[in-house]
Order: sequence, then C-alpha cells, then structure tokens
Amino acid sequence: MRDTLYKSDVFAMACGQFEQAADILELPQDVRERTLYPKRCLAVTLPIRRDNGAVEVFEGFRVQHHLTMGPTKGGVRFHQDVNIGEVAALAMWMTWKCALAGLPYGGAKGGVTVDPSKLSPAELERLSRRYMTEMIPFVGTHVDVMAPDMGTNPQTMAWMMDTYSIQLGHSEPAIVTGKPPEVGGSLGRKEATGYGVAHCTRRALEDASIPLNQATAVVQGFGNVGSHAALYLHQMGVKVIAISDVTGGWHNPAGIDVRAAVDYAARNRSLKNWNGGDPMSNDELLALECTVLIPAALERVINAGNAGKLRCKILAEAANGPTNNDADALINARGDITVIPDVLCNSGGVIVSYFEWLQNLQNAYWTEREVFAKLEGMLDKSRMAVLAQQKRLRTNPRTAALALGVERVAAAKKLRGLFP
Ligand code: GLU
Repeated sequence: MRDTLYKSDVFAMACGQFEQAADILELPQDVRERTLYPKRCLAVTLPIRRDNGAVEVFEGFRVQHHLTMGPTKGGVRFHQDVNIGEVAALAMWMTWKCALAGLPYGGAKGGVTVDPSKLSPAELERLSRRYMTEMIPFVGTHVDVMAPDMGTNPQTMAWMMDTYSIQLGHSEPAIVTGKPPEVGGSLGRKEATGYGVAHCTRRALEDASIPLNQATAVVQGFGNVGSHAALYLHQMGVKVIAISDVTGGWHNPAGIDVRAAVDYAARNRSLKNWNGGDPMSNDELLALECTVLIPAALERVINAGNAGKLRCKILAEAANGPTNNDADALINARGDITVIPDVLCNSGGVIVSYFEWLQNLQNAYWTEREVFAKLEGMLDKSRMAVLAQQKRLRTNPRTAALALGVERVAAAKKLRGLFP
C-alpha cells in the first residue's frame, strides 16, 4: 500500500481485501493502482453555534472513490471516531457494493467527527446544513449523491436536501436519498438495508436446509439496520435470542420481544436499562451459540481475538467491514461458518437508494410492494453471481463478491481509456 493521506488501519484493511481480489483476478499493477485509490476528497471545517451561544468547530469529509460509471453514491456518518482513512475505506466498499449490485454508480462516503448523542436536535440541524453548504461545489445529482449512514437519518437528509435546494432556487430531491417519503423519499428505503439482510439470511438458511422456525439469530447493533433486520427475521419465524447496542447486550433464550425493544429504543434513544433479557457484554454476545450472527454496527468488531470463539453457522454482515482480515483468514480456515459478505448482505440500502434517485429524476413514485419485489430480484441476482464467481475462481464468498465488483470497475476503466 502507498503512503497516502488515507493511511489508517481501516483503509489498510480495505486495501488488503482488494489485494486478495486483485491477486485472484491476476490484475496487473497499473490497473490495481488506478482501481484502488480514491479519485478525490474534500475536507471541511464546520463551525456551528451551540444552543448556549458558544461556537464549536467540527471536522467533515467526503471521499469520492471513482466516477467512471456515473455519479458516486454513499452515506454520511456522524460519529466521534470518523477520520479520512475510515471514510476512504467506506467509500471503497461502496464502490464494490454498487458494482456488485449492477448500479451505475461509483462509491463515496462522507463523515463528520462528532458524537451526535451530545448535540441537541437544533444543533444537529445546524451541523447538517453547514456540512451540506460546504459540500455544494463537490456534489450534484449527477456527481455525488449522499444518503444516511451511522448517526444520520431521514431527517438529516431532509435538512441537507432543503439546504441544497434553497441554494439552487428549486427543489432538488435527487441530491440525497433516504429522505422521508413526504419530501421525495422512496417507500421502503428506511427499512431496505435490514430487509435485505433478512432476505439474504433467509436464502442462506434455505441453502443450508435449516427451516426458519428452527433458526436462532443474534444481532449486534440496534440502529436502523440491526433493528429492522431483527424485526424482519422475527416476522419470518426466526427466534432472535440476543440484541445489543453501545450500552450493552441482552440475552433471552426464549426469544427477544423485538417489537418491544424497537419501541423502547425509539423512546429512550438506546436500550439502556431495558429489561427484556439478561444483560451481557457485547463480547459475550458475539460468542453465543446461534444459527445466524449479525454484526450491524461498526467495522472490525470480529477480530483475531474473538473469531475462534464464534458459535454461529452463518455470519450475516449487516455492518460495513465488521470482520477484519485476520479474523477472515481464521474463519476461512475453520470452514464451519458461511459468510454473507457485507457488500452483498447490506446492499439492500443502496439498491433502494438507487430506486429513490430514479423516482426523483422521473418524478414518478412506486408502491412499497414494487420496491421490495424489485429489491428481492436484485439481491437474488447478486447472490447467484457471487455463487458462480465462487465456483469459477475457487474462492470464498467475500473474495468472490469483491472480485466481481473489482472486475466490473476495472473493465469500465479500461474501456473508457486514459485521457489525455
Ligand atoms: N450508508 C449506506 C451504506 O453503507 C447506504 C448508502 C446509500 O444508500 O447510498 O450502504
């Protein structure tokens, strides 16, 4: 890996994954360099007025990984640990995810280094508007389209869309996706990532001949993605036996009341002091015996220290990059866990973002039933493509999925050629 400005542990992890895919595809060195490094980035300083009148300054980023196949696409993360290296890694993963799903997008990601739980709603609004204001010269409906990620939500997208639209003098809903339906958001977008995780899990259970009502699930992370994945799996008949968020974990072998947990977390902003199960740490939770383990929070929670302790049959990666490369090697060597890699497992979100963008550009709106039917079709197509690639390259699901993405991007770059 070059000594770039993106240098960080998470970026190194994303580069390591890329190298594995590039090795198996036997990509020449010049193609690797061209395909791997982000095209461009913007770092901004964001001063906002706090409710007490003081001014506080935050740091924000946006990384556009490649613009070869259309606009770039990806979420904006508000989290205290955000840095440009992490944002670049997440942008790279968006590239492979979009290419695998066959979307006409490159990957992007944005972030602000802030703990959103420490800001009031009015402060969050000022920060979101300031971030979009600074990004106006860098984004566009055919340049770079943002969406929610960890710490941001449909309300954040509505503020960003409003800020951009005011600047233009007319409504421009296609500038962001994941908006509330009242301002041009797609039906089903909020649920889409979790729905996709549950759908991919159902397919993996079918492949393993495990009936849904004999399967158990453990969900680490209870934000928009984890909670919807848990709800849909529960509806399908899977017994969710443990859930967690940053405040801790809860285990209930008889089955978690997922609806009650979602309502509690919505009322209290977290699961803290919830009494729907026996409390346990996130580390203990990851090692529970279950059919499906769903990491749905930050990257690198599964590492060399705990990969040997996993007792799941299926690892459904709802988060981006939840398994680090050492853990990945250990899991592959164990051979008893089927991995549904992140770029496939959580791609439901960006797929429905694409549907939202299409609906905005055409000013024609789809029913929720249409959205989910089309989503299932696209997920199944990606899944079959990964299986075929796995056989062709004789490799594991992650490398196969990444190799599909890398191959498609490299082919597009080759066809477009070099200018000048
Ligand atoms: N932030 C989400 C992801 O990591 C969604 C991105 C999008 O919808 O553009 O996939």
